[in-house]
Amino acid sequence: MPDNLTLAEDYQKIKNSLPASIELVAVSKTHQVEKILEVYDLGQRVFGENKVQELMEKQPHLPADIEWHLIGHLQTNKVKYIAPFIDTIQSVDSEKILVEINKQAERNQRKIKVLLQVKIAEEETKYGLEIHETKELYVEYLRGKFPGVVITGLMGMATFTADKNQVKKEFTFLKNLFDQLSLTQKLETLSMGMSDDYPLAIECGATSIRVGSAIFGSRNYP
Ligand SMILES: *Cc1c(COP(=O)(O)O)cnc(C)c1O
Repeated sequence: MPDNLTLAEDYQKIKNSLPASIELVAVSKTHQVEKILEVYDLGQRVFGENKVQELMEKQPHLPADIEWHLIGHLQTNKVKYIAPFIDTIQSVDSEKILVEINKQAERNQRKIKVLLQVKIAEEETKYGLEIHETKELYVEYLRGKFPGVVITGLMGMATFTADKNQVKKEFTFLKNLFDQLSLTQKLETLSMGMSDDYPLAIECGATSIRVGSAIFGSRNYP
């Protein structure tokens, strides 16, 4: 994205380039409430954050009709803070965290949508379930083990590499798993693709993309 475009222009350009069926999650981590509101005012309602504490600080200052997605690794002791309002937790990477989300959802008398995060990257640094764990969890879910949650799909992060073939291979792999699990009960959401690779992710079958820097600009970490 050329950086002489304004936030609104960047956003509209991305939004207009997407097929209507693709969900755009605007990843607002590290960005201020004012900037999030600017994107909200352009019509965006789905936002993603990767840290519970940061989400907790911003959420009370933003409109109540925002659908918040948690996209980063979640610790069990923090689920209770977001359970009252979170729309979707995209980063379910263990059975333990799913058990806790289920418990907190029931405590709040609501259903929480979740995606199972599958490890598709080669990097050791990325979180995610192994393939067999993903299948096992889905079977347990279908048998009624987690009545407080709705598993709506899968999420994956590709290896951080310039090698498009590698990324394509990983996205295609996840799409195949998504199709396979959908044979038992249809899944709706396949979340893959970020600022640098979302067009490829859509080509490979993504239904939802998580885009941060291409909308908000680059992040300044302290
Ligand atoms: C930060 C983040 C994104 C967005 O990354 P960009 O490259 O800024 O688009 C997407 N998914 C996850 C899980 C992230 O942590």
